[in-house]
Amino acid sequence: MNALEIKNLRASIGEREIVRGLSLEVPKGEVHAIMGPNGSGKSTLAKVIGGHPDYAVTSGEVLMDGLNVLDLEPDDRARRGLFLAFQYPMEIPGVTIANFLRAAVQARLPEGEEIEATEYYAELYQKMDALEMPRNFTSRSVNEGFSGGEKKRCEILQMAMLNPKYAILDETDSGLDIDALRIVSAGVNALRGPNVGILLITHYQRLLDYIVPDFVHVMIDGRIVRSGGKDLALELEEKGYDWIKEELAETANA
Ligand code: ADP
Ligand code: MG
Repeated sequence: MNALEIKNLRASIGEREIVRGLSLEVPKGEVHAIMGPNGSGKSTLAKVIGGHPDYAVTSGEVLMDGLNVLDLEPDDRARRGLFLAFQYPMEIPGVTIANFLRAAVQARLPEGEEIEATEYYAELYQKMDALEMPRNFTSRSVNEGFSGGEKKRCEILQMAMLNPKYAILDETDSGLDIDALRIVSAGVNALRGPNVGILLITHYQRLLDYIVPDFVHVMIDGRIVRSGGKDLALELEEKGYDWIKEELAETANA
């Protein structure tokens, strides 16, 4: 199966269950958006798929092209083509963007194969230009002192250099002004295609004007409660999330 499949996933932090029986399938070639109120567990879902050690998976599966990745270490998941762009990217003082990305790209090459430096820099510069990142960023420490928008561009640059099979972008729109949003969205749209499945997590509909999803899912209290086409995002923008919560409560009481 050429997809990222999440099957009846449950995950907790401490005693608290945050992902509560969530199923979702993102086939290669498609862009799916997850929207939901703050605190519904969107970032937790992303981190659990990535293998964050703070969260305990209590049931369910996450399959990447049929392989259950939950048993793999985070770096192994990444080498197999999973990419996660964080809502709050970490600063890594002392590690330059150029060295960080070079190590990440190198880690994906077969044993014994070395990066060709000229080619690497050519590709890096080309992708930085597309994201309108000044060249001097290569010698700056990863995310250190970056503005919100610069951090998000740096996440997309990583994605562009790593060419993932499945990419999860957690609130890549937060903290971006309109110009940065346009640049970052163009970066994501450039990577879109038959060989990658993209899961966009966003609180706001605005991002989906720029990156038009094939499907939209609504996440509330750790579950997907609605799925639809891109129009569902417009409906949420107009009506908020409360009507869905009310409908859910009615169904539960019926
Ligand atoms: P979203 O991204 O949808 O806003 P999160 O996944 O960040 O939601 O959070 C879902 C819930 O889990 C929130 O109530 C949050 O406080 C809680 N939570 C997330 N991470 C942790 C953590 N590391 N420790 C304790 N609670 C957490
Ligand atoms: Mg979040």
